[in-house]
Amino acid sequence: MTKKSEGKKLKEQLEFSFEHIGNTHPEDVEKAIEFCEEYKTFMDVSKTERECCSYVKGLAEKQGYKAFSAGKKYKSGDKVYFINRDKNIILVTFGKKPLEEGVRFNIAHIDSPRLDLKPFPLYEKDEVAYLKTHYYGGIRKYQWGTIPLAMHGTVMLKDGTKVSICVGEDDNDPKFVISDLLPHLSAKQNKRPLNEGLKGEELNIIIGNIPYQDEEVKEKFKLQALKLLNDRFGMTEKDFTRAEIEMVPAVKAADIGFDRSLVGAYGQDDKVCAFTAVKAAFEITAPEFTIITVLTDKEEIGSEGNTGMASKALAHFVEDICESFGAKPRNVYRHSMCLSSDVNAAYDPTFADVFDKHNSSLLGHGPVLTKYTGARGKSGSNDASAETMYKVISFMEKEDVCWQIGELGKVDEGGGGTIALFMGDMDVDTVDLGVPVLAMHAPFEITSKLDIYHTYKAFCAFYR
Ligand code: MN
Ligand code: MN
Repeated sequence: MTKKSEGKKLKEQLEFSFEHIGNTHPEDVEKAIEFCEEYKTFMDVSKTERECCSYVKGLAEKQGYKAFSAGKKYKSGDKVYFINRDKNIILVTFGKKPLEEGVRFNIAHIDSPRLDLKPFPLYEKDEVAYLKTHYYGGIRKYQWGTIPLAMHGTVMLKDGTKVSICVGEDDNDPKFVISDLLPHLSAKQNKRPLNEGLKGEELNIIIGNIPYQDEEVKEKFKLQALKLLNDRFGMTEKDFTRAEIEMVPAVKAADIGFDRSLVGAYGQDDKVCAFTAVKAAFEITAPEFTIITVLTDKEEIGSEGNTGMASKALAHFVEDICESFGAKPRNVYRHSMCLSSDVNAAYDPTFADVFDKHNSSLLGHGPVLTKYTGARGKSGSNDASAETMYKVISFMEKEDVCWQIGELGKVDEGGGGTIALFMGDMDVDTVDLGVPVLAMHAPFEITSKLDIYHTYKAFCAFYR
């Protein structure tokens, strides 16, 4: 054995770098692959916020969670859930410590970028029946042409009947599609800037091409499509005005790579954090502090509305649980901690120039701890304190969780936000932690199974 030089010893003492989990914890590769089998199923049945909410409710009931009832007395170890307008679910496990010593919030969002139908969407043009769309969240429009789409949603019929729609997910279902030009005729389109490759008004969904058999009627193709919608869901054209219909990629979650190291799926932003948060909540059954896992909505359009985090819905719920224990909500918030569990952009070697690699999250290096989000001069950011960063890093390292830091991209390149600022507003120490994602907001996003598994481990550590 040669003796280490002074410089080498000093380097080891003073320097720090983040490693691929496959190097430091090779034994976790199999565990991560196994852990993600259930994750893929979860993704396939949770494509919209309503579906995710209802699926998690079912899982929670199997774990012994009961619907929360205001005014009821609860004790340490009790597990309850609360559903807000079928689009948020809050899971609570009451801890051993009094509420006023603070709770552990973990908040992930279950809405994802997609194409919503316009309120009056149905038309025919030159013998093709179409639905017009209005995109929801930040999408790159050109990515949505020529991929199979599925229709999900809720329609309120005239008589008040609520009908759930899901077409295109079953192997036997038809799918829907947006057309694009063939290369032979796209010389002019090719000169458009990429953000206009497909324009908003060109995101029209093909739903039929057979005419209704009656010489007397006009717009036979539209009528035929309406008839089929009516046969299947009992709806008429007017019912579109009372509907929320979301078009999403009709693709199933899949392993990516010969080594199956990655998951490809639609909507991993942010259902990958929702899944890991829910699994961790199920795992930690006797926490010290009360744990409150919130799956929220509307994050992709700014968290507005009564199912988004800008609303008082969570505050009202916390007031309700405080009443049950005779606690003051403001004391609870003041002593609480929150993980704003949302994805961040993974460094993409193919598009390296938009990242500061030194401050980017890499696939396979674990959940990414994001001190601040925002754009340019941290505008719109929560910017966690040094003390909060200390607490989060400490609980992760105590349980051998691999983690990394990361900014979204180069300082002047763009930006984005999460729900962290809303929890900051509520007087809660908050920081962002989540899974790095390649091709975020694309119809098919990519994550690392090692990152997913270690995010789950991080959430377990936080709850414990
Ligand atoms: Mn997100
Ligand atoms: Mn997003």
